[in-house]
Amino acid sequence: MKKVYLDNASTTALRPEVILEMTKLLTEDYGNPSSTHSLGRTAKNILELSRKSIAKQLNATASEIIFTSCGTEANNWILRSAVKDLKTERIITSKIEHHAVLHSIMALQNEYGIQVDYVNVKTTGELDLTHLVELLSDEKKTLVSLMHINNETGTILDLNRVSQICQEHNALFHSDTVQSIGKTKIDLQHTPIDFIVASAHKFHGPKGVGFAFFRKNSGLQPLFFGGEQEKGLRPGTEAIHQIGGMAKALELSYQNLETESQYITSLKEYTIEKLKANFPDFKINGENTFYNLLNVLLPLDESKTAMILFHLDMKGIAVSRGSACQSGSIRPSHVLAEILTADAIKKPSLRISFSHFNTTEDIDLLIEALRNC
Ligand code: PLP
Repeated sequence: MKKVYLDNASTTALRPEVILEMTKLLTEDYGNPSSTHSLGRTAKNILELSRKSIAKQLNATASEIIFTSCGTEANNWILRSAVKDLKTERIITSKIEHHAVLHSIMALQNEYGIQVDYVNVKTTGELDLTHLVELLSDEKKTLVSLMHINNETGTILDLNRVSQICQEHNALFHSDTVQSIGKTKIDLQHTPIDFIVASAHKFHGPKGVGFAFFRKNSGLQPLFFGGEQEKGLRPGTEAIHQIGGMAKALELSYQNLETESQYITSLKEYTIEKLKANFPDFKINGENTFYNLLNVLLPLDESKTAMILFHLDMKGIAVSRGSACQSGSIRPSHVLAEILTADAIKKPSLRISFSHFNTTEDIDLLIEALRNC
């Protein structure tokens, strides 16, 4: 049975070049970057070249990139230190953030009693930026935390515009860019954003590695304590094979961005055409969505909602319902709950997320399987 992987917002397959690079690093470059002998120095060199390469892709400087174990860690770190060390009194966020942000903020609210305000979400899945400006008119030491690309619907936040709004109101701006790094250009010299985060496994790199970006003199303090790695900001022996694999994956993603994003866009359009032909009453959840994500409400009976993923899985098709953490659970997605009516949310919605490894044959197999659900 052919396996069809259409769940690239959950995680992506490694590029073959990344596997080669990581295999080389695991086999030959196993030194500890903190060791002073030549194996250690080689590892340190790989570490710093990886940092430089990542910084270059984002038009940042190398010292602004700090490696972490994943996007969740980077988000937790920035939010926690903003409250604990930068004395943020209020966080403005939205109810459609990933749980790595939402649950961190809730924990901080409980621990530190900070004020948390939520920007209104429109029925299009986009945020109401007029409401953001209204919230910011109340002067308080504030951090705005809003994601770039929503991982469930693919709705897009205008990073430049929100950065400017935050700057005008003296607020710090953190964006969870886990779904956009490697998939669209971000220029950190021209976008006055304070903090962003990334996770390698979302752009065809390895799991278990990511990074945080923050500017010099941000005042951010470490989440854990130990050695001097990452200038003491993120102690722990650096996973050279993961970091080197991530740098390679990001370099290739940006090298191929134009051709791959055009190809993926055409696959998304093909899927929409096929859905229109086979399920004329289907609806897209969210408007103006990112090119690799398509969240659809299918005009099927509510009784199919619980089992649809299971039926597709039996046919070798991997898609998602809501975010990865909720796959397999029948709780409604917290993102769709914000934009759909109470009736619509009971119907089966699917998140189809593409990569350059997909083909139109994958889409045909998905449509055929859905017709037989
Ligand atoms: N933020 C967003 C928007 C995500 O989609 C994810 C992963 O699903 C994360 C954060 C968490 O990243 P990681 O898996 O690296 O912890």
